[in-house]
Amino acid sequence: MILENLKKVLNNIPSHVTLVAVSKTKPNTLIMEAYQAGQRVFGENKVQEMVDKANTLPTDIQWHMIGHLQRNKVKYIAPFVSLIHGIDSLKLLKEVDKRAAQHHRIIDCLLQVHIAKEQSKFGFNSQEIEDVLAHIHSLKYVRVIGLMGMATNTIDKAIVKQEFNGLNKLYKSLKAKHPDFKTISMGMSGDYLLAISEGSTMVRIGSSIFGSR
Ligand SMILES: *Cc1c(COP(=O)(O)O)cnc(C)c1O
Repeated sequence: MILENLKKVLNNIPSHVTLVAVSKTKPNTLIMEAYQAGQRVFGENKVQEMVDKANTLPTDIQWHMIGHLQRNKVKYIAPFVSLIHGIDSLKLLKEVDKRAAQHHRIIDCLLQVHIAKEQSKFGFNSQEIEDVLAHIHSLKYVRVIGLMGMATNTIDKAIVKQEFNGLNKLYKSLKAKHPDFKTISMGMSGDYLLAISEGSTMVRIGSSIFGSR
């Protein structure tokens, strides 16, 4: 079942787009089915759950933190996390820098941009992004490689398309000045095709692979 779902999703994704298989709430047995099918990049949104899974599953899995990350929990994932998608404050980025240094690592991060209409979604606006990027030269142990965004949860495709398009425009304008920029993480099970047509290079897909939660 997982194998078929994964194949279907991969068939829809061009090779330059990275698939993050979102395995939050799902047991290791299902993650291993995807792993056996060749999937290596997995996304989790809770620190404790990601640590537990990373401790028991194969070490060549790349773990992406896709959820809201609290500063006091960065230390638990700093030894192994592969990419942090949801950086939403300079304070959080500084904490990641500090913990990465302790582990002699450079941790890749994405800045989360608030593109949705909903109040509840975290993230910066475009001015705040510029302010953060003006500070990153002093942070030696984080590499900001791009942006992440979540569109409004609506069936109105025009709204979602407009939000993804706006994020891509911001990404492209920043990429011109920031050579490390290479990733724009946008698109989930319900909207990843639209996200890819609007320039996404990384999609985060859970329920289309592992079933509903
Ligand atoms: C859960 C989650 C996803 C995956 O959602 P699906 O609709 O199951 O594909 C993607 N991104 C984030 C930030 C999530 O929390």
